[in-house]
Amino acid sequence: MKPHVSDFERGRAVVRILVVVAVVCGLCALLFTQENSREQMYLVLASFACVIAVIVVARIMCICPHCGKRIVSGVLVLKVCPKCKHSLITGEKIKSKR
Ligand SMILES: [Zn+2]
Repeated sequence: MKPHVSDFERGRAVVRILVVVAVVCGLCALLFTQENSREQMYLVLASFACVIAVIVVARIMCICPHCGKRIVSGVLVLKVCPKCKHSLITGEKIKSKR
């Protein structure tokens, strides 16, 4: 693992994986299981568990490395902290574009 990877970047990677797993579980529950079957219930529960895990991981790990602001919305797309305008990956100041 590279030493310069920030907690934010690691958290985002975990969130991304969990979102994919949640979607896959949800889709499998809808498409590949019989309605009200035990398998469907397990997949729906797994999907919910992943959604909850996403919220928990985002709250704990997705924090701006510069100002400590928690980034919850837009965690997968933001590159710059909306509060202090520092990079969420490196913590460096982003020069404003002209
Ligand atoms: Zn910040």
